[in-house]
Amino acid sequence: MTATTAAREMNKGNTWAATVLTLFPEMFPGPLGQSLAGKALKNGIWRLETVDIRGFARDKHRSVDDAPFGGGPGMVMRADVLAKAVDHVRAEPAGNRTDEGEKTGPVIYLSPRGRRLDQALARELAERDGLVLICGRFEGVDERALEGRGIEEVSVGDYVLSGGETAALVLLDAVVRLLPGVIGDGAALDEESFAQGLLEYPQYTRPQVWEGREVPAVLTSGHHEKIRAWRLARAEELTRARRPDLWERYLRATKSRG
Ligand code: SAH
Repeated sequence: MTATTAAREMNKGNTWAATVLTLFPEMFPGPLGQSLAGKALKNGIWRLETVDIRGFARDKHRSVDDAPFGGGPGMVMRADVLAKAVDHVRAEPAGNRTDEGEKTGPVIYLSPRGRRLDQALARELAERDGLVLICGRFEGVDERALEGRGIEEVSVGDYVLSGGETAALVLLDAVVRLLPGVIGDGAALDEESFAQGLLEYPQYTRPQVWEGREVPAVLTSGHHEKIRAWRLARAEELTRARRPDLWERYLRATKSRG
């Protein structure tokens, strides 16, 4: 048995599965087909299915959008078409078949109005069975589809993209790298930015001197306790200088831990 089929066997029945509803299925897996996420996809650690929303349009022009009621610029994605796509995915999920039946995980509409994506949310989503992502286009989607299907909203930041696809790729990247087995050394995840509420300390590699700049001596001392203390001090310094919001939260958490 090759490593790949062994990994597939192991994950049978509990593969984390993402289903992406989009008007541009050819945008996936895109960058997630490469490097760590791509390897994990090939090895069956996670699965990715795209569903073309246009396939659920019923009129002769196969239209998925229409002008907004009340006027204004742009077009709005139709509630009936989108809801049909969501119902289809819920009836035939790509995800797990468990004793409780098949599960899709949460259905999420990528939207600037949503809960802001952060490392804590990525961790939450990695612990689910998978998720269904809806990528908007134009001015967004008819509000009734969100209400009628109990769809949550997640934003990747306070700026406006031209479509939900790049946001979906960002969200999937952040979640997939947290799935067990995607990053070889799981300890790497405990040290990186946000894991402990701090930004990461500066990193160095060979050459030891570059353009006259030396690597901080402590890092080549072999003294593990001193290295740990140095890194923590740098992480705290950086966080305090660059992200007062994170720094305040970190101070409160450290205080309450005593
Ligand atoms: N008129 C909307 C923006 C529409 S942008 C508004 O002002 O809120 C078109 C699509 O891009 C959206 O439907 C959404 O799916 C996606 N999108 C844009 N910005 C995003 C962001 N910051 N996070 C997640 N999705 C975003």
